[in-house]
Amino acid sequence: MLSYWEQQSFIRYHYAVVGGGLVGLSTALTIKELHPKASVVVFEQGILPKGASTKNAGFACFGSLSELLNDINTIGEHATKQLVRDRWLGLQMLRKRIGDRGLGYESNGGYELLMESDLKYLDHMDRVNQLLIPIFKQPVFSENKQLVERFSFNPNRAATIISNPFEGQLHTGTMMRSLITLAARKGINLVTGAKVESFEQSTKDIHLKVSSASSEPLVFRVKKLAVCTNAFARQLLPSLEINPGRGLVLVTRPIKHLKIKGTFHYDQGYYYFRNVASRVLFGGGRNLDIQGETTDAFGINQRIMDHLIAELSEMIIPDQPFEVDHQWSGIMAFGQDKRPLVNLHSPGIGYAVRLGGMGVALGSLVGDRLARILCLPENA
Ligand SMILES: Cc1cc2nc3c(=O)[nH]c(=O)nc-3n(C[C@H](O)[C@H](O)[C@H](O)COP(=O)(O)OP(=O)(O)OC[C@H]3O[C@@H](n4cnc5c(N)ncnc54)[C@H](O)[C@@H]3O)c2cc1C
Repeated sequence: MLSYWEQQSFIRYHYAVVGGGLVGLSTALTIKELHPKASVVVFEQGILPKGASTKNAGFACFGSLSELLNDINTIGEHATKQLVRDRWLGLQMLRKRIGDRGLGYESNGGYELLMESDLKYLDHMDRVNQLLIPIFKQPVFSENKQLVERFSFNPNRAATIISNPFEGQLHTGTMMRSLITLAARKGINLVTGAKVESFEQSTKDIHLKVSSASSEPLVFRVKKLAVCTNAFARQLLPSLEINPGRGLVLVTRPIKHLKIKGTFHYDQGYYYFRNVASRVLFGGGRNLDIQGETTDAFGINQRIMDHLIAELSEMIIPDQPFEVDHQWSGIMAFGQDKRPLVNLHSPGIGYAVRLGGMGVALGSLVGDRLARILCLPENA
């Protein structure tokens, strides 16, 4: 049973956000910027944020050439350009909000490895560069075959490389710590280990039933609600079109004289690797078992992990011995295309979900959009 004091001080808020990932925290921060006096609570089911925001590879990217060509085939040139613009603006917003030190941001450039069967993408490079000129003011992609040798990739596998000077990398843990610290400084109340089980809207307010492992469920009362639960969104909003997708990542022990520096992609983004100081982080391979990886359960698919290790020794660092130091999985949210879902569910309740495999750059903008929608007086 709650005390009088608890009833007075902890149960009512102007705004509640469900999900303590990049989007949830960004939504809460914009709400506070727009309404500094409003009370804002963020409920996160994990002790640490449990979603993709703390598990990702830290690529500050907006799409490789082959990925963007794939997007153009699916959603057309206009929508692809819009998506790239949103990712780029989102990244600038994140860098401004946290600062590059607070992100562990490094501007080392991005690269796409093309195999012999991928050389067809080069025929479309100028077209994509032209499409993106209004955003970047100069061509984004250029071919540089000599990089295969410079980075010491296996030349029998990697035929050439496309480089992109606008791509960066960051330290995912540093980014999330900085966001959480900033949220606390702005007076946002982050409650971890607190799962929102359900919500009910009345004419006066919204009731949230929140459970935790160590106490009876509590009912909170809020005026407005933002659902930012990405791959887990169908639990609260079952009608949304979202499929979970698991991604695997490994990190090696430090490697002497490591040649690779920057962020790298191949096979339309299904594989990605980067340096983390002198270690290699490598992830992907979902396409080897799409059905098995369409899950929101954490776990390591050994077939995919074995394949990643084989790729490392055969193509990425063929001449260097390495040991895997860490491996983990994280859950992404996919739909029929890569555009996120940002909208009102009903007056006063909105959602920003389905960030796909490239939400780091996009997340701040998506959270900002949801906050602005919810803060409109007509959505009271
Ligand atoms: C392995 C992996 C690698 C990736 N690499 C990159 C990359 O390099 N670059 C890139 O741009 N993107 C990458 N991504 C994608 C990126 O991480 C995501 O798009 C982004 O973090 C999504 O942020 P989010 O806040 O929407 O979701 P999440 O971070 O998933 O946050 C949702 C949160 O909601 C919480 N939650 C869910 N349900 C409830 C509930 N009922 N009550 C309370 N809390 C709840 C979850 O615990 C979770 O913390 C990667 C993702 C994965 C999994």
